[in-house]
Amino acid sequence: MHFDVGIAGGGIVGCACALACAKQGFSVALAERDVLGSGATAAGMGHIVVMDDSEAQFALTRFSQQLWHALDLPASAEYVQAGTLWIAADSEEMEAAERKQLWYSARGVPCRLLSGSQLKSEEPNLADSLAGGLLVEEDAVVYPPVAALELARRAEKLGARLIVGQAVKSVGNGCIVLEDNTEIRANRLIQALGAYATDVLPELPVRKRKGHLVITDRYPGFVHHQLVELGYLKSAHSSATDSVAFNVQPRPTGQVLIGSSRQYGADDTTIDHELLGRMLNRAVIYMPAIGDLNLIRVWTGFRAATPDKLPLIGPAPRDSTLWLATGHEGLGITTSLATAELLVAAFTGKAPTIAPEPYLPMRFERATTQAYATREEL
Ligand SMILES: Cc1cc2nc3c(=O)[nH]c(=O)nc-3n(C[C@H](O)[C@H](O)[C@H](O)COP(=O)(O)OP(=O)(O)OC[C@H]3O[C@@H](n4cnc5c(N)ncnc54)[C@H](O)[C@@H]3O)c2cc1C
Repeated sequence: MHFDVGIAGGGIVGCACALACAKQGFSVALAERDVLGSGATAAGMGHIVVMDDSEAQFALTRFSQQLWHALDLPASAEYVQAGTLWIAADSEEMEAAERKQLWYSARGVPCRLLSGSQLKSEEPNLADSLAGGLLVEEDAVVYPPVAALELARRAEKLGARLIVGQAVKSVGNGCIVLEDNTEIRANRLIQALGAYATDVLPELPVRKRKGHLVITDRYPGFVHHQLVELGYLKSAHSSATDSVAFNVQPRPTGQVLIGSSRQYGADDTTIDHELLGRMLNRAVIYMPAIGDLNLIRVWTGFRAATPDKLPLIGPAPRDSTLWLATGHEGLGITTSLATAELLVAAFTGKAPTIAPEPYLPMRFERATTQAYATREEL
């Protein structure tokens, strides 16, 4: 089998790459060991969010969010422009909300500050004591596994070959080898294995970062926006300890999706009940009525974390056929579409919409897993 592009991994990133490449007229094969969209993509929250951790993170999230808006997904993908409400618990966090508002406004992102009473009227189930918040209006939510499948099916209609149910043994030197030794040869290979990227390329600076999510029974109207505590930014940055943050999403079914936790060094899928308890207690502090809801399911998933919190998008060192599209940590649903566009721009020689340099894997050329550990300690 010979193709222009061979993709290993059928999560949201692999499926987005398949569609973007097929749209360019490339012949494409995508290999996935389980079902499409079953990895972190099925475990994630599906918050399509613009982030301001760095200019590079902003550029990637904002560009990708605009691509999501333009995608015209079917109703089953549950894409809703719900907006994000960043919650300030006290006056110090309200100052952080004000800085965020200035930063976003300067970059053309529609957002507005809310006082404590305005916050309460937007979300009556929030606690009375909160100082206020920032509403970022163009953020959205999506149901990621259905969105991934939709992208893959669109690619298939354009001729892409989807090979599902067989693990990839190796990716490199112009060839993806499946577990039955089938060889998929391609001029360009994309490694999009998410948190499993190091299974086939152990030297990549990617680590699993486990997360827990809980979903409730149906309570239509209980919550209207994606709600995230501003303290989330601290917890997302804490690499030394396990952390939890208040992060709640309304699903179009009326269900409430409650997150989230972050853990390194926990590489099995079991539920950590102590951490789950902390996560739910945090949710009840911000939204006391959550304590009365019926929780129907809990699961875990793995984010693919890099040392500098930016993904690896671009040519792999030492293999001219291999391209990387992994390391998206907690933003891979949001940034999947921009990832695919950056790779396609590189494949076609067209000018990319945003600068690709911050995401190039070459930045870790001298980094090894050992160096990764040292960086984490700094
Ligand atoms: C709890 C949690 C909440 C999150 N919330 C959000 C959010 O709100 N917004 C957001 O933008 N992101 C969020 N994320 C992050 C997001 O889910 C991931 O960044 C994204 O799904 C990564 O997609 P991917 O395609 O790279 O990886 P995956 O979805 O993991 O896809 C990789 C695929 O490779 C396959 N695979 C692995 N090994 C092999 C092999 N050897 N052979 C063949 N196939 C293989 C897997 O089965 C999988 O389907 C969250 C993640 C978690 C865990």
